[in-house]
Amino acid sequence: MWVRLDDAMLDNPKIIAAGPLGFALHVAAILWCGRNLTDGHIPKRKVGSLLDLPSLQVSETTKVRVLHALTADDLAADLVRLNLWHDRGDTYELHDFLAYNPSKAEILADREISRRRAAMNADPALRRALQERDGHECRYCGVAVQWRDRKSPAGGTYDHVIPLSAGGDESLANLVVCCRRCNVKKGARTPEQAGMTLRSGRNLDGIKPDSGPPVPVPVPEKKIQRRALRSRRLPESETLTRERWDLAIAKGYDEATIRREWEKLALTEFGSPKSDWTAVWRKWLLNVRPRGDLQADGFQFRGPSVSSTREMLRAKGL
Ligand SMILES: [Zn+2]
Repeated sequence: MWVRLDDAMLDNPKIIAAGPLGFALHVAAILWCGRNLTDGHIPKRKVGSLLDLPSLQVSETTKVRVLHALTADDLAADLVRLNLWHDRGDTYELHDFLAYNPSKAEILADREISRRRAAMNADPALRRALQERDGHECRYCGVAVQWRDRKSPAGGTYDHVIPLSAGGDESLANLVVCCRRCNVKKGARTPEQAGMTLRSGRNLDGIKPDSGPPVPVPVPEKKIQRRALRSRRLPESETLTRERWDLAIAKGYDEATIRREWEKLALTEFGSPKSDWTAVWRKWLLNVRPRGDLQADGFQFRGPSVSSTREMLRAKGL
């Protein structure tokens, strides 16, 4: 599966202080935690087997002198000292792991939802019943859906009126024919939350599970918060704070440039969702050509990074 790594990690003073081997052990531990669904905890006895440190060879011509054999424990102690890890008795806990990665509970809930969705799609009787009841029109916008179209907005899909993640089920009563555009727009929300209404005079009150109470699949609070926080565009709640202003001033930009660039950033759709907009702004500033009255010593042009260049090109539609 996948874990998330902060793409500004190499600028993190703690990571710099940990050195290349500390960095390697840290990333290896993140991978281990992701694969084993441990919410950022790694048993101490595992740490030594993550990297093959004993096989490290130092050539005779190098200036490096190895004073004693480097062990994972040495590096782990460094990482604890740098607060990248926390000592939790039998395990180390990776600081911030859950800020970037879903918890075990979230992953299991997602897998359960995927399993149920796949089971529904594999039920031809249910699909036939839905198409008989709803015809081949979206129950939200009325557009004629194309069942063979698996990509574009008019493609036919089935929508869980009450989302699985909110306790909805796969009964006929909770499923409707839906165009892909409406399904994407609605997301994991009820029609009410999405501001959408079901057509054909049906309303939510009429929708009851066919048999027994629905089995809720909990979505942990943290995930909902993170979903809300991550966005491809600058959320309206994000403003040009004092900290962000000072960042730009420190780079040597004048007032007009800062305001202009902040407006440009606000109009940009990024290639991947962002949560730390101060970090986005800091990167953005690297791409701005200096102009106006710069202090000669206050500005260092480091050049755009590969990822920020890619984002800039994407923003320009190139
Ligand atoms: Zn529709």
